[in-house]
Amino acid sequence: MHEISLAEGILAIIERQRREGDFGCVKSVQLEIGQLAGVEVEALLFGMKAVFRDTVADGAEIELISVGGQAFCFDCESQVPLAKRGEACPGCGGYRLHVNDGDQMRVKSLEVE
Ligand SMILES: [Zn+2]
Repeated sequence: MHEISLAEGILAIIERQRREGDFGCVKSVQLEIGQLAGVEVEALLFGMKAVFRDTVADGAEIELISVGGQAFCFDCESQVPLAKRGEACPGCGGYRLHVNDGDQMRVKSLEVE
């Protein structure tokens, strides 16, 4: 399942941070998820709960921040919002779009103690 490997990736980031600056446990994790990242939020939360069990991040609060999709349209040469991959440009109806934001997921910040 895709979301389990995402959750493992998040845990790897947390563990790397811990090696750099020692802390006891993670209180909360802020995650940015792009609208176009193709992440199933419910599945990801479930996966994180499972993967975080008995680790430094066990019981951490998860805060999700949704990032809107953005694309550049080559037809009308402008930056446009894009809710879904494969949709037409909201400005001109063209399909020559290059997604340039909102297509990834990242750990924005960690609250630790
Ligand atoms: Zn356009």
